Amino acid sequence: MERITVFDTTLRDGEQSPGCSMNVQEKLRLAHQLDRLGVDVIEAGFPIASEGDFAAVQAIAAVIRRPIIAGLARACTQDIERAWQALKGAARPRIHVFLATSDIHLQYKLKITRQKCLEQARDAVRLAKSLCEDVEFSPEDATRTDPEFLFQILTAVVEAGATTLNIPDTVGYTMPAEFAALIHTIRQRVKGIENVTISAHCHNDLGLAVANSLAAVEAGARQVECTINGIGERAGNASLEEIVMAMRVRPDHYSYDTGIVGEHLYPASQMLSEITGVPVQPNKAIIGRNAFAHEAGIHQDGMLKNPLTYEIMTPQSVGVPDSRLVLGKHSGRHALGLRCEQLGYQFDRRELDEVYRRFVILADKIKHVADHHLLDLIREAHGTARRIPPAQAEARPSALAAAVGQNLSKPFPVPFATDLNGARLPLNSLAEHHAEQGVRRNGDRRDEQCQYRSLTAAHRGPPDRTPTTRSL
Ligand SMILES: [Zn+2]
Repeated sequence: MERITVFDTTLRDGEQSPGCSMNVQEKLRLAHQLDRLGVDVIEAGFPIASEGDFAAVQAIAAVIRRPIIAGLARACTQDIERAWQALKGAARPRIHVFLATSDIHLQYKLKITRQKCLEQARDAVRLAKSLCEDVEFSPEDATRTDPEFLFQILTAVVEAGATTLNIPDTVGYTMPAEFAALIHTIRQRVKGIENVTISAHCHNDLGLAVANSLAAVEAGARQVECTINGIGERAGNASLEEIVMAMRVRPDHYSYDTGIVGEHLYPASQMLSEITGVPVQPNKAIIGRNAFAHEAGIHQDGMLKNPLTYEIMTPQSVGVPDSRLVLGKHSGRHALGLRCEQLGYQFDRRELDEVYRRFVILADKIKHVADHHLLDLIREAHGTARRIPPAQAEARPSALAAAVGQNLSKPFPVPFATDLNGARLPLNSLAEHHAEQGVRRNGDRRDEQCQYRSLTAAHRGPPDRTPTTRSL
């Protein structure tokens, strides 16, 4: 298995999504989760863009010591020096320099010639290299750049000391086979390429960001740039969880692996949504609310007989709590406490009583209390101060078994609600689905929209900045 470097840019490119600005504390909190998730590189921000960006990169560099911490800079002295000021306290700093190389960007945006572009890129990388051993260079809009010019500029920056060459499909324009061919040709045509890491940075304008990233890996890229929940400019960046799980579910096809701890994928996704107030689309692969929901009767029947009939990976392998146990008004404190822990919150008895009191009132009204309802209740009762690192997935089945009083490690041992006795256990989602499909689903949907609104309104602090410097 070849190891692929996961370069997470949720805090930089991701933050450029409309509505996804984060303040320093929020970025720091997410950076800790990215560290637990096992990403290799955290692009913490664009230090010249604002005081807030600078402070966030500096703070993350100071406390997150395992991954490489990267800061973005345009190819000019002021940006690079500012990036280095923010990064120099990092255990493993990286300066990421970019400059557009396509004719359309050179003529209309930068108003410089190709020759000037080449000199500027080379000088910028030299300057960055004089400050920091680890330098990444990105030719912005690479996929619409004249390939001959691209090879020329890449050769020049390798000579100047770049250690990673990132190939951005800035506008989400390329096709998988075409992008693979480009990476392949870069390996043949760029002098010194064997000593540097090739990276892919794909946008999702045509829904191909993950496919293009995987195609690049197959063609020889050894770093992928991606974001949690696929957030990013316009239609977003390649989604980290999809790239990682494609490799993990199909090792027969992709003989590559990453350092990602699968069980932290869902907690990372949830944390990002909670911080930004931007929900994940329900049918989003891997981490969407419906990614492991089985609704059709024939699917439920198959799942009950053997989960392998309809599941290519287990929810636990990506950290999705066992949502087959649904919280309703018959649920007791114990089940509620367990679900809170699965969502990353631990309470003492008094604190849990307060959540429980609110829970009972809500359960009376809406019957089925989903995780996002519960998160709202928790925030209303206690804010986010009681957040703990999410429990390890392997701990969950036994914890649940203890609550339910039976062995949940058997394949899909979901009892029907009527089978459950004095323990006042949660209702079972399958039974519920079966009995009340239409009614509950419609109710849920309205309810969710209003939850999303309340999330957005109540939990967003003022944005740290209005991003004006957009890139890559
Ligand atoms: Zn980008």
